Amino acid sequence: MEKIVVESFTMDHTTVEAPFVRRCGRIETPKGDIITKFDLRFTQPNKEIMPTGAVHALEHLMAGFIREEIADVVDLSPMGCRTGFYLILVGDRQEEEIAKAWINALEKVMLSEEVPAANPVQCGNYRDLSLFGAKEYAGEVLEKLKASYL
Ligand SMILES: [Zn+2]
Repeated sequence: MEKIVVESFTMDHTTVEAPFVRRCGRIETPKGDIITKFDLRFTQPNKEIMPTGAVHALEHLMAGFIREEIADVVDLSPMGCRTGFYLILVGDRQEEEIAKAWINALEKVMLSEEVPAANPVQCGNYRDLSLFGAKEYAGEVLEKLKASYL
């Protein structure tokens, strides 16, 4: 049987410095299209873990904002460890372009006055959403990202 290597398990989480954008996957489909995957790391692994209300609100907010900033988004999903998100896009994309889109999306988070889809029809756990928490982490990450990528 073929041995499966999970890419994120090969990254040494003790040596990285958050926040960062890391291109962590590139797949070529049978018809030749390229799909790329990025690690959008908000907080330092095993040091600073975002509460679920903050991660969940960031997920709701960035779902729309990241798609306004960059085309052909397949998915943006939180990591189970609550230190970041995975972003998957169609196309051969580079970290710089993704960092700029992420920065712009976070700027919009900072200006938000409500969390979209915060109701029992559109969300599976709508009571666990913290706009305050989302802005707290977005603000912290924004300053550091701007210093590294702009
Ligand atoms: Zn939700």
